[in-house]
Amino acid sequence: MPFQPNSPAARDVAYVLHPYTNFEAHEEKGPMIIERGEGIYVYDDSGKKYIEGMAGLWSTSLGFNSERLKQAAMKQFDTLPYYHTFAHKAHLPSIDLAEKLISKMPVPMSKVFFNNSGSEANDTAIKIIWYYNNALGRHHKKKIIGRMNGYHGITLAASSLTGRTMNHRGFDVPLANFIHTDEPHHYSKCNPGESEEDFATRLAENLENMIIEEGPDTVAAFFAEPVMGAGGVIVPPKTYFEKIQKVLNKYDILLVADEVICGFGRTGNYWGSETFGMKPDILVCAKALSSSYLPISATIINDKVYEPVKKASAELGAFGHGYTYSGHPVCAAVALETMKIYDEENIIEKVQGVAPYFQKGIRSFADHPLVGEARGVGLLGAIQVMQDKESKKPFEASAGVGPMIANLATEEGLMLRAVGDSIAFCPPLIITESQIDEMFAAFRRGLDRALDHLRKEGQAVA
Ligand code: PMP
Repeated sequence: MPFQPNSPAARDVAYVLHPYTNFEAHEEKGPMIIERGEGIYVYDDSGKKYIEGMAGLWSTSLGFNSERLKQAAMKQFDTLPYYHTFAHKAHLPSIDLAEKLISKMPVPMSKVFFNNSGSEANDTAIKIIWYYNNALGRHHKKKIIGRMNGYHGITLAASSLTGRTMNHRGFDVPLANFIHTDEPHHYSKCNPGESEEDFATRLAENLENMIIEEGPDTVAAFFAEPVMGAGGVIVPPKTYFEKIQKVLNKYDILLVADEVICGFGRTGNYWGSETFGMKPDILVCAKALSSSYLPISATIINDKVYEPVKKASAELGAFGHGYTYSGHPVCAAVALETMKIYDEENIIEKVQGVAPYFQKGIRSFADHPLVGEARGVGLLGAIQVMQDKESKKPFEASAGVGPMIANLATEEGLMLRAVGDSIAFCPPLIITESQIDEMFAAFRRGLDRALDHLRKEGQAVA
């Protein structure tokens, strides 16, 4: 496509390397330029309005124009726009935010380490786990277990932990010491007639067999998102975490809850760990921590982990890890204000109030001819399409049906994200019932257009 010379689109194609993008296709299609946002809506540079059905990247919990967050940033810019937290230096925003986070933890926790992104927070967790086991003299206890289709980010360690081929292919990861166990998706992975509970039992047995095969004294930690987000909004089967944690406890393996998507009310409780009975040793959060207005993430550890790490840092002279921007004062001030808004506006109760309506809306698509499964929890959901829903026959991946549906929804004024043939919904937490109606009406228009198109091509069975 020819771009107007010197237009933003032409300059984007000329200069910007975009994340998660087919570069060749980008040179053809150019960018979609988003200009401004308001509440749950964003506007492109032609003025067209879209519902942000994904809260950006599962993240803009308070919508796109919070005056309070803007003011919090401005106030901190006026006082101290930057200072670091290395080697005993501190500032109030990071102290206040750490205290606030510890007060909200789903299980007793001890200390908070700040990073800039979800990926970095997971890398920090992995490095702390290795340091911890070295401190305990368990030099071989280093393997980290993730799950197939789990998502933990894209830095070297985090992408190794991530269980998606698209994040491994071409990059020479996963690194050594990262292994992956089953994806807990009952709908697509259960045996015929297998209940959710029996499926969970089988997955826990598979995990235990993997640990025994690898050698329990070589396995350090298990990372899990309460609900797998970027893997397609996979809600774990009943009894899953109870059974998994029994196995982990038996072999002294740490549990890390990656709450980067699920934290701060998304699943209907403050933490996904509460919704699913997880008792993590380490909790990782980001995204809604600052409503994504500024980059900040946290790795939060319990005393069991902290005590040996503390001792080793004394013996080694220092814990040799930290980012220039760890606990950046403006980011921390905005995050603290975000958490205050969650408290003052009773965001958890708000999500609990609106979630049944949202879930009913998601499930209203279950009888659509294209839809195999409609699933979700809290304000998180997905619709998975199938070529033949009766026999659970998927479309060929190369047909790109999921992305086509997401694109058609975008044409209908709704931003969504396709994960293969699952289309994810993760709207800002401030969404109202009438906006939920508006969102699902736009989605239905897109889905029906996709069905028409697939029927014309002879691809849809129904
Ligand atoms: N963990 C989870 C569960 C995530 O969903 C993501 C991002 N989608 C990450 C980690 C990585 O976060 P970031 O993109 O900020 O590095």
